[in-house]
Amino acid sequence: MELLKVEHVSKIYGAKETQVKALDDVSFTVEKGEFVAIVGPSGSGKSTLLHILGGVDRPTSGQIILDGNAMYQMDEDGLAIFRRRQIGRQSIYEMKERELTAFRRREIGQIYQFYNLIPVLNVKENITLPLLLDQRKVNEDYFQKLVQQLGLQDRLNYLPNQLSGGQQQRVSICRAIMASPAVVLADEPTGNLDRKNSEEIVGLLKQLHREQKQTLIMITHDESIALQADRILQIEDGKIVKDEVIRR
Ligand code: ADP
Ligand code: MG
Repeated sequence: MELLKVEHVSKIYGAKETQVKALDDVSFTVEKGEFVAIVGPSGSGKSTLLHILGGVDRPTSGQIILDGNAMYQMDEDGLAIFRRRQIGRQSIYEMKERELTAFRRREIGQIYQFYNLIPVLNVKENITLPLLLDQRKVNEDYFQKLVQQLGLQDRLNYLPNQLSGGQQQRVSICRAIMASPAVVLADEPTGNLDRKNSEEIVGLLKQLHREQKQTLIMITHDESIALQADRILQIEDGKIVKDEVIRR
């Protein structure tokens, strides 16, 4: 089943002489439950693509459809607006900024290179914050299962600066998947970790992908990590130059 559809997405930064075309007519689809690695040289547009997939940034043209909901479409004036197409109905209506924020919080899990934890909140608070912001109850059984799986059960009252890099990344993984999002987006999640911790983090992501059929899109510099995905998208100069399914 098709989960994510990227249609003719371009992104231009800046104006006139200083313009940078970070993405140039990118189209691809991701199936539900797929694990996709994105590789490419520095500056090729990988992070820009992930930001747009996550609804953090808007494309200059093109559209993103997640699970039947168009997150971005262009209106007649060429302005980016958010629209939501209700599944099974004809009606298309504008997604207001507030709705988009809630949609993002529910459907998209984000993992960053530098963890992006909130320094004054402890581990448990960091993990459950997105749910609480959404006025949703924390499923305590699921929370306990995840923290066990991620080896965080003895660290729930610690602050981020009392944890190692690998532990902080495990907290951010837990936060990303706690709301059972449609897709998890990870931008160089092992970029700040040593080999042993990197392997552990990728192992955990693969395990979650396998057990929970979690759709996962991950940017990585590391070829041995990319080869563990189901599929590798290679980006150069804002274009997809290779789309390869990994056979095992
Ligand atoms: P990657 O993640 O592959 O290293 P990025 O997506 O970060 O690449 O950047 C792609 C291109 O867009 C680069 O040339 C970068 O300088 C440019 N770029 C990224 N973000 C911005 C921005 N906010 N303003 C202007 N240019 C940007
Ligand atoms: Mg980047």
